[in-house]
Formats: sequence, C-alpha cells, structure tokens
Amino acid sequence: MSCLLLKNADVYAPEPLGLVDVLIVNDKIVKIAPQIQAPAELACKVLDVGGRKVVPGYVDQHVHIIGGGGESGPYSRTPEIFLSELTRVGITTVIGVLGTDGTTRHSESLLAKARALTHEGITAYMLTGSYELPLHTITDDARRDIILINECLGIGEVALSDHRSSQPTRAELEKLLTQARLGGMLSGKAGVVQFHMGVGERGISVLMDIARETEIPAKHFIPTHINRSAKLFEQAKEFARLGGYVDITSGIREQDGFPVCVKPSEAIKILYEEGVPMDRVTMSSDANGCMSITLPDGMQKQLAVSPASFQEEVRDAVLAGVPLPVVLQVVCTNPAKANGLYPQKGAVRVGSDADIIIYDGDYGVDTVIAKGNLLVEAGTALVKGTFER
Ligand code: ZN
Repeated sequence: MSCLLLKNADVYAPEPLGLVDVLIVNDKIVKIAPQIQAPAELACKVLDVGGRKVVPGYVDQHVHIIGGGGESGPYSRTPEIFLSELTRVGITTVIGVLGTDGTTRHSESLLAKARALTHEGITAYMLTGSYELPLHTITDDARRDIILINECLGIGEVALSDHRSSQPTRAELEKLLTQARLGGMLSGKAGVVQFHMGVGERGISVLMDIARETEIPAKHFIPTHINRSAKLFEQAKEFARLGGYVDITSGIREQDGFPVCVKPSEAIKILYEEGVPMDRVTMSSDANGCMSITLPDGMQKQLAVSPASFQEEVRDAVLAGVPLPVVLQVVCTNPAKANGLYPQKGAVRVGSDADIIIYDGDYGVDTVIAKGNLLVEAGTALVKGTFER
C-alpha cells in the first residue's frame, strides 16, 4: 500500500478549500482536512507544499495520441505522443481521437495506445469512429464499441463545415447522436459525439437545429475548435445556452498558424464575462494534430501541435483576470462531466482519483501526481513513457 501526504496545500478543488492537508492512499484521495497526521502504519511519504496552489489534474478530451496530420502526404503524419509530453503540462486524463486520416490510422491503434498510456501512469480513453461517415469503428458499430470497450466513451471526431468533411446529412448526424446516446445509456457512459468544426460558413447551425428540433439532449454534442473564427465563436455562445458543450482548442492560436482565431484564454474570458453558462465550456489541446506554418521564405513547415498550449492558456486566462476556480472548471471538472468521468476525475475531493497538480508561484506546473504516483517534480518528469529517452 502506498501513502502520500501533502501538507499545507492551498487547494482549489476547483472551489477554494483554503490551507489544508491532502492524504492519498494508493490511487485515491482519502482525506482532506487541516493538520492530518501521517498514518504510522502506512510509511507515508510527506510532501510539504508550502502554501502553494494545489489543483486537479487537467482532463484533455482531444489529443491525437497515435498522431494525426498527413494532409501534405505521408511525411506529414505526426508521431505518437509520449507520456511526459502530457504530464509535464499537468494533463493526467486524456481522450484520444483519430483525425483527417481514417485510412492509415485506426480506432484499434487508438485503443492500444490508450491502454499503453494508462499502463504508463495516466488515465487514457478514446472515441471511436473517424472524420468521415460511414464511421470506421472496431466492431463495425459505434454503439457496440461504446458498450463493449471500456476505454471507448463516445464517437469522434466527426468533421463538419470543413472541406475535409464527408458532408454528412442532418439525418445521418441525428442517427450518429442517437447511437452515441444509446451506447452511453446501455454502458453507463456519457455517450458523446465530438465534432471537428471547420471554417465553413454553416458552422454549427445543423447541431443547433438538431438540439432545438429533436429529443436528443444537447449534452451529447461537443463541437470543438470553436475559437477558430469569430463567427463560429458567436454561434458557440448560443449553443452553450441551448445546453450543449462547446470546446475551445488551446492549440488554435495566432502563433500556431491561425491568424483569425480567438485566443483560447481570451475566449474563456469573453464567455465568462458575457455570462455564457460556464458549466458548458471546456478546453482541449488538439495535441499532436498537424499544423502547417509559413516560413519567412514562403515555404511551409509541418509541426505537431504541442500540449504545452493547454497549460499556457490556463495560465493566461488566470492572469487575464478569470477566477482560478472558473478556469479549472473549464479544464478539469467540465470535460470530466461531459465525458462521464466525474467525480472520479476533474476534482480534488475525497474518493476521487489522486490526480493532482501543484503549481509553482506563477501558475506553472511544478509537480504532477497521477493515480497517487509522483510523475513530475520541479517541472521534471520522474516517470517517462516506455520508449522515451
Ligand atoms: Zn479537429
């Protein structure tokens, strides 16, 4: 049995709990209170946090864990993600998705990689299906995938309003959402569908029509990349008010090759200040997707999206004046709830998994604990993935 006691922790659960101690036994938080005594029988490791902020590990619901890209030919396929790329920026729960390439990339590989990351120390899930319809799934039926495969939480990412989309009809989308909903109900999961939103003029209007005109609850729809354009961002505000989740992409920034986007931290701030229901807002990284940037000599360069944008935008949102508990709701609690993982994930509370970030004095990630194990200390990965150097 392992035991870890965090002393003098300024806990944001995400709501502020003040200065407390946090007792972790094996992979769970078992007690949160002032002045906890280390249980003598457990040979507890004691870590004095020294009054620094302690927050839940981030839940990133959109990562190309086996790589993505490939849109400029096979050389532009991005590599698989390494464990410490995620943990060093505080991501302790991840949901893997395919991307544009549903031909040389497969849901089966996604499942294997999710299991590998879980073995290596974090918690990883996947969405089944592909950018295009008909979906490429594991059992040839998305609903069966959700019901029969533990790691499979829903369907995605399915592309809409994009030149790369298979241009699904409204009827096809309704069928897809119903498959996810039923699969979720029969397996006790959230049964969500994540939609990749492109820059197309139609934006998320078809999803809004479905939410308004059918019986399918809007909580099953998660359009992502909603900060890609001002128009899409405006529609997203309305969709959140209808009860749908809207997902900001931290990797969509001006410096990442998106000149007309809404900066992710700014997007959080605007939604908060305009009174959009913040329990409907999430953020994900799109890590290991491919971005193409134009060099000064006019040549294109392919880069893999870094998960570091996630932590950078969390910090920027706080520094821009959004209260820390609100930001943590967006990156921990809400993605956990949207995907049916709360309260096991997304909160520092008794009974939850011991997935914890200790910030440095400047909202940077200093220490990361996942399932009770110290994976990062003083910004350095103590545990690396199987094939990481
Ligand atoms: Zn996408």
